[in-house]
Amino acid sequence: MSPRERFNRIPESGLCIGCGLCQSLAGPECISMAMTTEGNQRPVVRGRLDDRMVDRIYAVCPGTRVDGLAERLLTEDTSVDAVWGPFQRIVYAYAADPEVRFQGSTGGVLSALALYLLESRRVDFILHAKASAAHPTWGERHVSFDAAAVMAGAQSRYGPTAPLVDFREILDRGRPFAFIGKPCDVAALRNYARLDDRVDRLCQFHLAPVCGGFMEPAAMRRFLASLGLAEADVTRFSYRGRGCPGPTRIETADGRVIEKTYLDMWGKDESAWGLPFRCKICPDGIGEAADIAAADTWPGGAPTPESQATDKGTNAVLARTANGRDLLDAAARDGAIVIDGEAGPREMDVYQPHQVSKKLAVWARHAGLRAAGRLAPETARLRIEELARTAGVSSNLAQARGTRRRAREGRTDEPTPRPAD
Ligand SMILES: Cc1cc2nc3c(=O)[nH]c(=O)nc-3n(C[C@H](O)[C@H](O)[C@H](O)COP(=O)(O)OP(=O)(O)OC[C@H]3O[C@@H](n4cnc5c(N)ncnc54)[C@H](O)[C@@H]3O)c2cc1C
Ligand code: SF4
Ligand code: SF4
Repeated sequence: MSPRERFNRIPESGLCIGCGLCQSLAGPECISMAMTTEGNQRPVVRGRLDDRMVDRIYAVCPGTRVDGLAERLLTEDTSVDAVWGPFQRIVYAYAADPEVRFQGSTGGVLSALALYLLESRRVDFILHAKASAAHPTWGERHVSFDAAAVMAGAQSRYGPTAPLVDFREILDRGRPFAFIGKPCDVAALRNYARLDDRVDRLCQFHLAPVCGGFMEPAAMRRFLASLGLAEADVTRFSYRGRGCPGPTRIETADGRVIEKTYLDMWGKDESAWGLPFRCKICPDGIGEAADIAAADTWPGGAPTPESQATDKGTNAVLARTANGRDLLDAAARDGAIVIDGEAGPREMDVYQPHQVSKKLAVWARHAGLRAAGRLAPETARLRIEELARTAGVSSNLAQARGTRRRAREGRTDEPTPRPAD
């Protein structure tokens, strides 16, 4: 198999989640992220790849490798829950500034922490994401040096987003920064830290939203079509924020503004979401390798018709490392966030039933992929085999056989990425 074919096996196996790190490693003249003929954001090979580079990509890509928190980051204060992983403290919290809380996706904690990190000069900038200028339903990598830029990146982007496309250039700046990205982005960054010691030196804080996955572009096109819109009509798309979850707001080129509720858009559970395949086999949607992971606090995993109109937003926040706990405590002490009580893993189960069931199912899904001769992510320190044992034989067989069947039928595969233009 040529290096190009070997690299393409990652997206062809449905394992690419579009983080962009392979572009940064190989250089955009060799691999570049593009909209494909299917409308996804995928890495397209444009130059010559050698086996050494493909080995490096396999070692860092979150489609092929996902590890839990490194043992050196566990301390005697760390508890490890079988489902929720390592944590030092779990709290309810929200941004102390009511405007940040209002603008934020849930309680604005991630934005408030980013603002605090800049104001207290712990870091020079934040690497995160904002709405894409070219594709308003997507996200794009965003570097924030000030409060206005941080807030321009607030809120959840439930579309393809590649925050790591130029990660090596970010490191070349030689300045301390904090990273906010999905758990798979954090996994990629932690993987890359094994190859480049600048990551641990310069990336001082790793923050993540807990993540059940995003809406794949085909599902977004169906949603827009149900409103009589095509993607080209949309000039701005805000998934949530301005309350918790706040409205899904769509602005069009001809001046229309359409607002839908979160429940209109997503339904009551993730079965209606049209998730990318990689999200269905995600071994870590809970930010196990982050210093801090922030989640929603809706019992059952979704807001109610009543709460979505009135909720001001409160995050459940897992401080996983000593670094994360110290940041959380300092931000509360200095008035950047309000801590509104302690929570624990069993409360998290109540807010995130979809995360619990996926965590119990993924080991068998990976086994099903391997049984069909497909690639599956290598994992470590995520307890997924141990969790699968608690799920029981019949559940594991059903998950493994279902995934094996889908893989054999080609339903987990994607075409080789080709650029749309
Ligand atoms: C794709 C996705 C799926 C999610 N699924 C769940 C879930 O299953 N359960 C749950 O409890 N919560 C989920 N969330 C998290 C939830 O929506 C909030 O993001 C989280 O509670 C943090 O809220 P906040 O108010 O502190 O965030 P904010 O203060 O609004 O800050 C959000 C930060 O995340 C960054 N960001 C947003 N979207 C992306 C993206 N796509 N890629 C990289 N960085 C991004 C922004 O740049 C910003 O800095 C999901 C979020 C995303 C993006
Ligand atoms: S997940 Fe990231 S590193 Fe892996 S192939 Fe996709 S864009 Fe490249
Ligand atoms: S569910 Fe997992 S793979 Fe999908 S976007 Fe979230 S962290 Fe990434």
